[in-house]
Amino acid sequence: MSTNLVPGARNYAVRIEYLSGTEIFAVETHILAITDRDDIRAMASGLAAESTYANDRIPDLNWSITIDPVDPDDPDTPPPGSALMPKCPVCGHHDITREGTVRWDAVNQNWYLAAIAEIELCENCGAEDKGLAQWVSIDETGHDQFLRLVAQILGEDSLPQDLTFRLLCSPLFNRLTVEQAAAEWRLSQGARA
Ligand SMILES: [Zn+2]
Repeated sequence: MSTNLVPGARNYAVRIEYLSGTEIFAVETHILAITDRDDIRAMASGLAAESTYANDRIPDLNWSITIDPVDPDDPDTPPPGSALMPKCPVCGHHDITREGTVRWDAVNQNWYLAAIAEIELCENCGAEDKGLAQWVSIDETGHDQFLRLVAQILGEDSLPQDLTFRLLCSPLFNRLTVEQAAAEWRLSQGARA
């Protein structure tokens, strides 16, 4: 079972209702990331058949499966295969979040992602809407070059390999100049010291 949204793949919510006769006694939702080689219907049927709810002792056991793209209304969703970033159409920031519901899986003894809210929220300016984000390709070359230039200004060429540095500076790409980003980094380091 895959429960993570995978950028660059097509993500589908697979909802399985388990019925005894006509009465629904359990519902499962899986988020599946699909590549072109995968058969989503076969995968969903496999999940249903392997479920603990698919128990032969349940009278008149049957199930129904519905499959929906996770972002069916988002016209900006780019084709699968490219590396992507969500971008706020209001302020241009990349820190877009969605809320999710996790449920406890008693069989696997783990939390699993049962649902993802449709509303997308920009953590920078507070804009929120269903399908808010514009999906843009990560400009790898420009992005990496940006990190390298910021590191150069700071006089520490190995910084782009530093995770903390990447987390702080990556969202600044296309928003600040390299000099401003370097100043932000110095500020964050000063605050920590
Ligand atoms: Zn914003």
